[in-house]
Amino acid sequence: MLFTDLGLSESILRAINEEGYTSPTPIQAKSIPAILKGGDLLAAAQTGTGKTAGFTLPILQRLSSSAKSDNKKRQLRVLILTPTRELAAQVQESVTTYGKYTGLKSAVIFGGVGANPQIKAIAAGLDILVATPGRLLDLMSQNCVSLNNIEVLVLDEADRMLDMGFLRDIKKILAALPKQRQNLLFSATFSSEIKALADSLLNSPALIEVARSNSANEAIAQLIHPVDRTKKHPLLSHLIKTNDWKQVLVFTRTKHGANKLVTQLEKDGISSMAIHGNKSQSARTKALAEFKDGKITVLVATDIAARGIDIDQLPHVVNYDLPNVSEDYVHRIGRTGRAGSNGVAVSLVCVDEHQMLRDIEKLIKQKLPQEVIAGFEPDPNAVAQPIQLRSQQHQQSRKPRPAGGGGSGKPAAKRTSPPKRSFNR
Ligand code: AMP
Repeated sequence: MLFTDLGLSESILRAINEEGYTSPTPIQAKSIPAILKGGDLLAAAQTGTGKTAGFTLPILQRLSSSAKSDNKKRQLRVLILTPTRELAAQVQESVTTYGKYTGLKSAVIFGGVGANPQIKAIAAGLDILVATPGRLLDLMSQNCVSLNNIEVLVLDEADRMLDMGFLRDIKKILAALPKQRQNLLFSATFSSEIKALADSLLNSPALIEVARSNSANEAIAQLIHPVDRTKKHPLLSHLIKTNDWKQVLVFTRTKHGANKLVTQLEKDGISSMAIHGNKSQSARTKALAEFKDGKITVLVATDIAARGIDIDQLPHVVNYDLPNVSEDYVHRIGRTGRAGSNGVAVSLVCVDEHQMLRDIEKLIKQKLPQEVIAGFEPDPNAVAQPIQLRSQQHQQSRKPRPAGGGGSGKPAAKRTSPPKRSFNR
């Protein structure tokens, strides 16, 4: 199938062509016709499948075919909600790229940066707004944005929004929208919470699933390197140097771990930067830009900061620590092998993480191959220690899990207060 078969206008096809795309990805082939029909949609899709264009293209088409006349002030007709600033910025980039010949106007708003330029952009008149929930509610409470004319609502990465504690914010936003509208819900996983949200939000939705939910992308080669907890850093430097890896996204469990690893890698002569919730927005943007441009070899990220990062054909993802939540494994490795290109996802697993590994293998219904690297053989008598799930002053937003495989029997770090929205990872 070609993009030209999908009923998109010349102006949109021209922009797609300039991006070098001729055929829609499987999700696009299904979502574009479904969204053009005007009904609600529930889509199971991970990042890397082309889902952003999957909703952006038909939305642009719908708006441009029913464009309001130029002399009237533009009305905000599409609202796209995303869990993180990075994802919001990337979605907006797609809207701008694919919509550049349509004359439609869009803007992105998120927290962590000044609100004034965002308020000005909204006041100037927009067709499409991409937003994270917190900043949107902020601006709504200051009467800087009106949602009275919204025709299409997109919840992108809805599972992650719920994980981050945004359900109440989403409900407040939904209450401010007109009843009559098209709702599009995208989620990589389907928990009972997501199903409940979908039931309350969607009206006889079209259902689209491209990869089995919770399944790992088959274009990605996955490998476990068993190693002692204290040898992870030298092993990582060894892998990067001996394999001459040029662009590596590394995941750590905590912000502190991310910072420490950057210092260690720099000492080994490997250029690296960290991206996590304690970094300012400008520092995060800079790190991401330098990584994308190949100026630094390693980007060390925590899960929430990395969510939705879109880097074309990222060759290497390393799980320096396994994630606390098994679904994050799927999200993390989804950053490589994107839209058909091949990728390698390597996990450095110590004795403390054996149970996590079993949980991940159960989730993805796959036993992952293991390879011990010479010189980094794990101590067979090592005893598992409980995993510190959060840094001292911050708390985790999601369920902690028991730590340690090899029968330490010690409990994992206990949650002392209820889950909250948190950007601390
Ligand atoms: P997404 O899942 O939206 O994050 O997109 C993943 C990647 O696929 C992005 O880098 C897109 O630029 C790329 N992409 C989107 N549509 C296509 C397509 N039809 N053909 C090839 N690559 C695509």
